[in-house]
Amino acid sequence: MPSPSIVWFRDDLRLADHPALRAALDRGEPVIGLYVLDEESDGIRPLGGAARWWLHHSLASLAERLAERGSRLILRRGPAHRVVREAVEDAGAGAVFWNRRYGGPEREIDAALKSDLREGDVEVASFAASLLFEPWTITTGAGKHFSVYSPFWRACLAQPAPRAPLPEPREVPGPSRYPASDDLDDWDLLPTEPDWAQGLRDTWEPGEPAAQARLREFLDEDLGHYDDARDRPSAGATSLLSPRLRWGELSPHTVWHAAVETPGASGFLSEIGWREFAWHTLYHFPDLATKNLRPEFDAFPWPRLKPTALRAWQKGQTGYAMVDAGMRELWETGYMHNRVRMITASFLIKNLMIDWRRGEEWFWDCLVDADGASNTFNWQWVAGSGADAAPYFRVFNPELQADKFDKTREYIGRWAPEYTDADGQPPMPMVDLKATRQNALAAYEKVKQVS
Ligand code: FAD
Repeated sequence: MPSPSIVWFRDDLRLADHPALRAALDRGEPVIGLYVLDEESDGIRPLGGAARWWLHHSLASLAERLAERGSRLILRRGPAHRVVREAVEDAGAGAVFWNRRYGGPEREIDAALKSDLREGDVEVASFAASLLFEPWTITTGAGKHFSVYSPFWRACLAQPAPRAPLPEPREVPGPSRYPASDDLDDWDLLPTEPDWAQGLRDTWEPGEPAAQARLREFLDEDLGHYDDARDRPSAGATSLLSPRLRWGELSPHTVWHAAVETPGASGFLSEIGWREFAWHTLYHFPDLATKNLRPEFDAFPWPRLKPTALRAWQKGQTGYAMVDAGMRELWETGYMHNRVRMITASFLIKNLMIDWRRGEEWFWDCLVDADGASNTFNWQWVAGSGADAAPYFRVFNPELQADKFDKTREYIGRWAPEYTDADGQPPMPMVDLKATRQNALAAYEKVKQVS
């Protein structure tokens, strides 16, 4: 009897450059794909609404692609440690392969599973696939992890170049008998009452084929003026690859090798470097989503939360055009341009004096690229409490930022047209920028006293 190999797909919903899938194929036995929706294991953060929408469609695409090549994607729900072992038993599998994850609770689950499966004589192997550099390999001269980006990225670039991507398999031979699978529709990942996902459907096509197409389009049309235009939200100059990398529809190796030979790609690749830096930071500091990386920020005197102020920010009703445009882009599309993410985050933290964690949670719920490392890392970066962070006293002025980065008001006009229409009636500014900036700086004195 053949003993099939299971490939446990996680944040790597692709067939190309998938080392775990390659290892399973090389083993020479039938291959079964497995995805586990784990909402129960300790420490695993439940996905936000926009992420669930993306996951549904990306899984549907992956299942179709596996089926076209001869195998199937089996869906199971529950705590991964139990569910994977059950799937192995049901399939009579002799081996399980996966690509590594770097969050704290995920690593614990994977390590425990690896040793339990091996005890049961099941072959297990894990692979590097989601990051260009393994977090434990990039260290300072003193063997510590980096807390500043530039030397971090220099150290990465001094390493041997990231390996070339693996080709996509043409066939994935399946077994004659499959273990039972849930029905994707029964997971209720899509919103129904109300169905708020129309904007997402209009904006995105999840899945590996669309991800590959976007990569090619970006390289052909946009990379050449990336450095000049990346900060202008209306320019459409950035790659929009963040959800593709988040869900692993593309590997960073594929992106790296596709771009690296293009003249002027280094600015773009350095952004991929920030993604690496965020993940490496999370690896060394697993509580990044909840705890200040710089503990002196624990002394920050956050005032009592004003729910109406938080709500106005979430809904894009602050009375500041650039903030409102960004928050509405996020709500509508599950995405926001990086410059505007910084402006809206700074406004929440420094002008509304609302704890960065409340903003991080909202982004987590709304972003299709919501990422356990990048989201928390960047919120802490704006707050000043993170790694190589913007200094707290740098408070983005949303009006000056609009003058500089949305000169023609094209972005604002698109997302918050009442600010650009002659007879539009924008909301009244909810706070005074100057006074709130002064308050924030005064509060920051408390942090300075303990640092
Ligand atoms: P490009 O400019 O084309 O960059 C290419 C890739 O580099 C991106 O796809 C992304 O994977 C990576 N990247 C770029 N900038 C950063 C950065 N600052 N940090 C980490 N990776 C980066 N990015 C996420 O992927 N998920 C998040 O949840 C997320 N939350 C954020 C929250 C805040 C408050 C801020 C300020 C930034 C956040 N970012 C997040 C980073 C950045 O805004 C997005 O990665 C970027 O806007 C995605 O658009 P793009 O793919 O067109 O980027």
